[in-house]
Amino acid sequence: MQLIDIGANLTHDDFDSDRDAVLARAQEAGVAQLVITGASREHSPKALALARQHPGVLFATAGVHPHHATEYTDECDAEMRALLAHAEVVAVGECGLDYFRDFSPRRAQHKAFEHQLQIAADLAADGIGKPHAPKPLFLHQRDAHDDFMAVMKGFDGKIGPAVVHCFTGTRKELFDYLDQDWHVGITGWLCDERRGTHLRELVKNIPANRLMIETDAPYLLPRTVKPAPSQRRNEPMYLAHIVEELARDRGEEVAVTAANATATARSFFQLPDA
Ligand SMILES: [Zn+2]
Repeated sequence: MQLIDIGANLTHDDFDSDRDAVLARAQEAGVAQLVITGASREHSPKALALARQHPGVLFATAGVHPHHATEYTDECDAEMRALLAHAEVVAVGECGLDYFRDFSPRRAQHKAFEHQLQIAADLAADGIGKPHAPKPLFLHQRDAHDDFMAVMKGFDGKIGPAVVHCFTGTRKELFDYLDQDWHVGITGWLCDERRGTHLRELVKNIPANRLMIETDAPYLLPRTVKPAPSQRRNEPMYLAHIVEELARDRGEEVAVTAANATATARSFFQLPDA
């Protein structure tokens, strides 16, 4: 079984003391490749640096999460564009809207989001006539669905493929995304008996070629991992647990869910074979 973790915050300082061991455990558990989430001005370059240390295994995204939206200046925009010129940076984002925490004012969130969508649109326009597909978008949406859809509508037909990562929303939200032909990332949120049970039913509706898996480590430790780790830190190795739970909910063999999610991720992010 070969897995791809499409969302791991491996530059997080929770991993500073044992990052290599975390990676080794992930690979032992079948996680062959990981896309390291770049979510701020500070961490997007770090994600690229980490990817360069592990060619063919680690890849990066470059973006600014809505929590960090106030740091999105013209200079920051130029930095993101420069990062995206590197082959190891495989997606624009993490970007989007988050009204759950509202860590940044909503006006700043919209501005940062639209600027990053413009980068994706510019990359797509540059790529017309070239053999490779445009770099996809790695999107975040929490408690902001209607505004999120409205902003995305402004870029209809101008951007490449998109994934709404860490999907935790409603049936309507899911079908809105699938109707737009976007991809969906499923995390260990699925395993949360307090707030993730609705996902157990919903994940059956995601076509295999739109479904990818991720840990969002160090966040979202799956609550069904047994025995529960002494520290609450999530690690990419638990992707193997997430895909087991997901396969059961979908009524599929684990190997089938895993192989499909891997093929979908590889094609979406244009990753080489592991
Ligand atoms: Zn996110």
